[in-house]
Amino acid sequence: MSKTTIRKRLFRSTMALSFAILITTSLLLSMVIYYSDMSNINQIFKEKNIAIKYFTKGYFRKIFNNVEFLSQIEMVKNIPYLGKHGHKEVLKLYKSLEKIDPDINYIYSGYQNGFLLINDYTPPPNYNPLNRPWYKAALKSKPNISRGVPYQEIKTKKWLISISKVLIDSKGKLSGVIAIDTSADKIIKMLKVQNSRYKSSYSLIATLDGKIIISQKKSLLHKKLPKILDKEIKFNKQFGKLDLNFNGDEKYIYYTRLDNLGWIVLTIVDRCEIIRPIVLQILVIILVISLMIFIFGWILSNYLGRQFVLPLIELKKRVHTLVEDNLDDSSSSVYSKDEIGTIASDIEQLARSELYSKNIELKNANEKLKLLSITDSLTRLYNRRKMNIEIEKEYKRSKRYKTKFSLIMFDIDWFKKINDTYGHQAGDEVLKELSNLTKEIVRSTDIVSRWGGEEFLILCMETDLDTAKNLAQRLREATENYQFSVGKKVTISIGVEEFDGDESIDELLKNVDNKLYRAKDSGRNCVMA
Ligand code: GH3
Ligand code: MG
Ligand code: MG
Repeated sequence: MSKTTIRKRLFRSTMALSFAILITTSLLLSMVIYYSDMSNINQIFKEKNIAIKYFTKGYFRKIFNNVEFLSQIEMVKNIPYLGKHGHKEVLKLYKSLEKIDPDINYIYSGYQNGFLLINDYTPPPNYNPLNRPWYKAALKSKPNISRGVPYQEIKTKKWLISISKVLIDSKGKLSGVIAIDTSADKIIKMLKVQNSRYKSSYSLIATLDGKIIISQKKSLLHKKLPKILDKEIKFNKQFGKLDLNFNGDEKYIYYTRLDNLGWIVLTIVDRCEIIRPIVLQILVIILVISLMIFIFGWILSNYLGRQFVLPLIELKKRVHTLVEDNLDDSSSSVYSKDEIGTIASDIEQLARSELYSKNIELKNANEKLKLLSITDSLTRLYNRRKMNIEIEKEYKRSKRYKTKFSLIMFDIDWFKKINDTYGHQAGDEVLKELSNLTKEIVRSTDIVSRWGGEEFLILCMETDLDTAKNLAQRLREATENYQFSVGKKVTISIGVEEFDGDESIDELLKNVDNKLYRAKDSGRNCVMA
């Protein structure tokens, strides 16, 4: 129905507005949530990497210290100049240090002359320590301690990390290299313990060129990162994040540089494990916001409807009632005091006054029409139709109350001649003047009508024949003596008839007409009763 259309439109508009607000807020909020969550997660992984970094640093600091300590011992440095006894003493020292520290797997030293000093190991026949990676690494880092060199032990196939340093003998010449091997089991254990709330995440330590040297995942151990990632990566920053395809999955890789070891700590996590909760969080928040915004929109539309639409609906109802069956004036001023209420009230007032004036116009027109239908336009007397009604009324009244009434019928003598001599216009004037004269002479209770062309009929209420006859006589004399504008004497012939209580209206009219006819016959300008 049209009654609800404006409110529906308001509802639709508010909802559209709410939707727009929702979209904007959702977009903004999604971005804020995404970036803040991401930065939090980055921080978590950064802290995790830093924890691993310091643990690893601490772990190797001890190994470094041991290497440093051994490289300063004179016997160790000067093994090539010592005899078997010296060798035994140094090996004893190595053994005791290995026993004290479970993190140390092997302590050994190789010399420029190809000699290897080590406990419980007989090197193969062609073995030359100078060709071993740990020896080369120490030479490369000379005079500093080498960075960790991973290698696979021939006997046990176990992966170890060697830390080595050159030995300078008492003559100041390079004599060999001291090395300590560690399996870094504690670090692997630590990597396992450091698992964050992200189940897919795991950490590993790699060399800067990408070789994985410490990993809780055995399958990745000693593989090259660029091979797995299928591209060369540069770990330029102290801490960084890479978005990569790793082992066939979409991964985030957080890296932290372990500078003095020349390594890098990597923590790898499935991208979807990080993104999914963020997306879920955003969806829940958007859901809550949409609910709130739509409730707000609904309340707003209702409120606006009540404030602005109800006065219009009320106006519509009232104007409708006004048009249908005239609203009671006392029930006004139902509108609010604001602009809308004022406009509504004004419109109602306007409709009311418009309707009122139209009603008056209609009433006047109706009255005019009614008057026109009962009067003769030339003489302004009642016409024959009205006269018939009046006669019938009086006839009934008279029959019921046994009262008398009379009819006077008169006709202008030789009227045709007036017309012929002075013109039709002049004839009309005579008719008008005679009508006025008649109205002046009759009593207020008498009803005068133009019965035909120049024929008139007077209904004299409660009047007997004598009284009527007198009136007729007076009228005849007055006419005869009247100065008509046509400048010629005008006379009338009159028939008078009293209702005898029995005759019909037709008979009555016929009788009075007969009387008039007889008056004409008797020479005109006379009354026949
Ligand atoms: P009589 O004495 O026998 O009544 O003679 P008369 O000439 O008056 O009668 P007649 O019936 O022969 O003529 C009546 C004339 O009245 C004829 C007609 O033209 C004229 N007449 C009727 N109505 C009007 C009118 O409204 N205006 C004018 N000017 N003349 C009218
Ligand atoms: Mg006549
Ligand atoms: Mg006539």
